[in-house]
Amino acid sequence: MSATEYEVVPAVDADVVAPHVGTLVLKFGGTSVGDPDKLRRVAARLVAAREEGQRVVGVLSAMGRTTDELLDLALQVSPTPHPRELDMLVSVGERISCALAAMAIHDLGHEAISLTGSQAGIVTDTVHGKAKIVEVRARRIHEALDEGTIVLVAGFQGVSTSFEVTTLGRGGSDTTAVALAAALGADHCEIYTDVRGVYSADPRVVPNARQLTRVSFDEMLEMASSGAGVLATRSIEVARSHNVKLHVRSSFEERDGTWIQEEDDTVSFENAGLEKALISGVVHQREETVYRVDGAKPARLFGALAEASVNVDTIVQTSSEIVFSAPVEDKADAARTLDELGVSWSSRDDLGKVSLVGAGMKSHPGVAAKTFATLEAAGIEAAIVSTSPIKIACHVPSSDVDKAVQALHEAFDLG
Ligand code: ASP
Ligand code: MG
Repeated sequence: MSATEYEVVPAVDADVVAPHVGTLVLKFGGTSVGDPDKLRRVAARLVAAREEGQRVVGVLSAMGRTTDELLDLALQVSPTPHPRELDMLVSVGERISCALAAMAIHDLGHEAISLTGSQAGIVTDTVHGKAKIVEVRARRIHEALDEGTIVLVAGFQGVSTSFEVTTLGRGGSDTTAVALAAALGADHCEIYTDVRGVYSADPRVVPNARQLTRVSFDEMLEMASSGAGVLATRSIEVARSHNVKLHVRSSFEERDGTWIQEEDDTVSFENAGLEKALISGVVHQREETVYRVDGAKPARLFGALAEASVNVDTIVQTSSEIVFSAPVEDKADAARTLDELGVSWSSRDDLGKVSLVGAGMKSHPGVAAKTFATLEAAGIEAAIVSTSPIKIACHVPSSDVDKAVQALHEAFDLG
């Protein structure tokens, strides 16, 4: 198996590489295509963009809970489904949405064509279930767009360099949409979802959370990788490296959502006034597995974990002990890798993570102090604390996650 370190989206063939002004990529998530009526509404929205003169590409997710149901079905047949066959199975969900949307568009009197990831020229590495896009060969899409056809691309999938159907991991339709927007030279990428945009905290936890107007790529990357579910982390990496502006908005309302773009001193970011906001948001993850490993050489340990596609997050090393965290989904792969290395290790599942993210943190001291004071006053003990220039992440007991989010949101006056 060959894994690619990071997502690259090289330009398409030389003759079609010029940016095509007026190309728009619109991505619709699972709830936005959840039933036949909603699919017809999506079709109408794509047609409206076409009638405004845009070259229109729609990237669709599977309808509602289809992906979960297909995964369930696989587990009912086989406790450890063969990875290649699992990708053959789950990639079907997005094909269903696209074919149905194309039918609905035809009924509205427009040309439309649905394409699988493979037909759309999305080439990936060979890691089933977590493939990374290595290239987009968009000639077929360009040809259809040139004829005025609305192109529907099945999200979350591609074809590997060894000609197998692959999927990109949960939430992967976002990555499909952004990679296509980059490869097609689209003006920007619209992400239609079931919320109005990106918020200063999860409104289910903090009722007075505020919708953000603009968020920088760096902030969004930190937010997504720290638990904000609105966008897949990898899609933001692609957006940042190709400077594709994203507009996250509700598919059920007309209003503007949140723009995700390059940090720009000439535009005022959240709360701006004269200065950028210190903190844009508090994000959380209810669970993250935390591992403790003894007597392993870090290079060998993290090399093996990377080889197994385990997405390691926080790492703390003191003397011979290494503590690191990784998503709950990666637990089976991590456990197998650690056993194979023959190191002594343990893990705990009772911690979650609460992260403060904000570009303004870079130039303001005191954020860490206030974070610790706030948690202490709320009687919450952080087991691990890690930072980046624009993030402070605290692992706290899962049962204290909500309380920590509320306290920090309040303390930093984000409502
Ligand atoms: N349907 C896939 C999932 O549920 C991909 C996506 O919706 O982005 O993860
Ligand atoms: Mg999603």
